[in-house]
Amino acid sequence: MNMDVLNGLFQPKSVAVVGASATLGKIGHTVLLNLQKSQYKGGIFPINPKSDEILGFKCYGNVLDVQDPIDAAIITVPAKFVSQIIDECGEKGVKGLLVITSGFSEVGLVDLEQELVAKAHSYGMRLLGPNIVGVLSNSDDFNGSFAPFLPFKGSASLVSQSGALLIGIDAQTYTRGIGFDKLISIGNMSDVNFADTIEWLDQDKNTFCISLYVEGLKDGRRVIEVGRKTSKPIVALKSGVSAHGAAAAASHTGSLAGTSKIYKSAFAQAGIIQAEDLDNLFDRTLVLTLQPPMKGENVLIITNGGGVGVLATDSAEKFGIPLKFAPPDLQEELKKYMPSFGSAINPVDLTGMAGEGWYHDTVKIGFQHKWVDGLVILYCETAMTDPLGIAKSIKKAVDSTGIKDKPIVVSFVGGERSDKAMRWLVENGIPAYGGPDVALNAIGALKEYAKIRMDTLDAPAKFDDVDRDEALKVINFARNVGRDSLTELESKQVFKAYGLPVTYAKIATSEDEAVSFAEEIGFPLVMKIVSLDILHKSDAGGVKVDVNSVEDVRKFYNEILKNAKAYKEDAEIIGVVIQEMAPWGTEVILGSVNDSTFGPTLMFGLGGIFVEVLKDVTFRVAPFSKKQAKEMLNEIQGAPILAGIRGEKPRDREALADTICRYANMIYDLHDEISESDANPVLVYDEGDGLKVADARILLTKK
Ligand code: ADP
Ligand code: MG
Repeated sequence: MNMDVLNGLFQPKSVAVVGASATLGKIGHTVLLNLQKSQYKGGIFPINPKSDEILGFKCYGNVLDVQDPIDAAIITVPAKFVSQIIDECGEKGVKGLLVITSGFSEVGLVDLEQELVAKAHSYGMRLLGPNIVGVLSNSDDFNGSFAPFLPFKGSASLVSQSGALLIGIDAQTYTRGIGFDKLISIGNMSDVNFADTIEWLDQDKNTFCISLYVEGLKDGRRVIEVGRKTSKPIVALKSGVSAHGAAAAASHTGSLAGTSKIYKSAFAQAGIIQAEDLDNLFDRTLVLTLQPPMKGENVLIITNGGGVGVLATDSAEKFGIPLKFAPPDLQEELKKYMPSFGSAINPVDLTGMAGEGWYHDTVKIGFQHKWVDGLVILYCETAMTDPLGIAKSIKKAVDSTGIKDKPIVVSFVGGERSDKAMRWLVENGIPAYGGPDVALNAIGALKEYAKIRMDTLDAPAKFDDVDRDEALKVINFARNVGRDSLTELESKQVFKAYGLPVTYAKIATSEDEAVSFAEEIGFPLVMKIVSLDILHKSDAGGVKVDVNSVEDVRKFYNEILKNAKAYKEDAEIIGVVIQEMAPWGTEVILGSVNDSTFGPTLMFGLGGIFVEVLKDVTFRVAPFSKKQAKEMLNEIQGAPILAGIRGEKPRDREALADTICRYANMIYDLHDEISESDANPVLVYDEGDGLKVADARILLTKK
């Protein structure tokens, strides 16, 4: 990435406003006015052939008329002129184009937009937008946008795909008292996208936390790559989480791959923390900006009210950091600084009698104690106490410990006095929230941050016993006869080449052949119809399990063919597969999609009704580590079934995790070939006994 060019875009030393206007209310006027109002120190060059001067700035007919160098051009002219302007900017040696003008891909003019990008690139320029509000930066006194003012000062930076939302957030930073350094509108992301912007913000010394509003990524895999390398916390609000296009999907996985579930996993894999809604984006941005990650899981809560203490305890569990009893030595120590009728167990209840002194002393002891990984201080406004005084005593106690690698968050429940005190706390580096649940959510984000950061260090599982050529041979055979999907048997051959345990099988095309294969494989066995026109074989009466005799093989051979014909008259039938019968086991499903955003993505869930009805599945973008595979097993609702319930033995989760990784490795390695696939069911046995893939399907990519 060319940092110099991106610096020119996000931190320009001089700007041209192309389409600058003297008319109040026009964007070309507002941008110029904003540059002036924000006291931007760089060169400002309005471009407008019809004016000599606007807002006191000398006006130029063309960027080429400007003698000084221009880092960035903010383009506000109508869409039809943009292309020519880009040529002029290119000749001038401009680095970055901030294209505010709309009317491109968002109205269907994708090609036109792509032409602009190609043109910009041909001059070595980068293009932000089009269809953006602009870029705002407090540390550069730069409001290169038509948003009314720079945001409330702070050290988070926001990247927003929605311009209107960015302007709304800009105003809210003041009412909420949550500070930002930069607001970056990326609009249609025709060139500069989330990954580029995250990468640039990671090296920006004024940004401590990267906050994203995402509608859809164009560059999912690169976001994962860049996110994993980023040294700063990233928090994202993703909108549009409803599943779409599911009905058209041909496989189980296709219909279960709701975008929101894939995004959820992909964000975690990118080390990005998710926010639930706009409020939550603010709340999490604040805590991630001000506080370090929480490295352990012991949270100590100190409160002056039992009610908020209980609320916080409930929330702690909800946000994945259930409270534990404080260790005895900590309790003993705390008891010295609180009334005898209080409680030191956790939450530590100082009672309504608590004043500044008790808060100070207990916060200090709690923060210093090695068992405590994070501290949550709650306070309900009382008649006898001054919230600001309490706030100051908390800050003083924290400072006196000198500790910087443990987080603290605060919640004050009260009125204006409490609001003021909380503002003071935030200004002094301690995140404070009106609700105890919000405070717990915030510290939960710090725990999440610590965890997903650790996870990004894990390397994906690698296998050297893979026979890629064998897999390609099977795939190419099918392609050569004009097919875009594989039979069950072929799919299993591909699976086997990647080390997945599949049932042994052979396709018979006559009754006698069926009998001879049956004798070779041995009883009991399974017989199934082989036809690419029949998706669900059992629905067509095309599956016979537990076949035990030669007579039955003959009988079922004919029955299966008859059923298939009855089910779908014109179905092209390849034969009947004679297959080793796997013993009964817990049924799970593995599947994959080639997601349009993230590429090869694996799905795992319990099979049977669990997958059909409950959609109890989880996703990962391939490839990933064995540890991630194990986490997938725990993520589904049905996790206890794999762990062994009611005296049943645990299932072979080790083997399952290995198979999941191999599957992920396969779809990653063959992502040019496999568009969708599933193994349904996979039968999982008791610990140590492994598993077997009973059914397999692979759909090929269109070539
Ligand atoms: P489909 O999903 O197309 O209906 P399957 O191949 O999954 O067909 O077969 C239906 C069911 O039969 C499976 O869910 C499984 O319970 C059982 N089955 C299929 N193949 C085998 C096998 N080789 N060993 C044991 N059971 C099998
Ligand atoms: Mg099946």
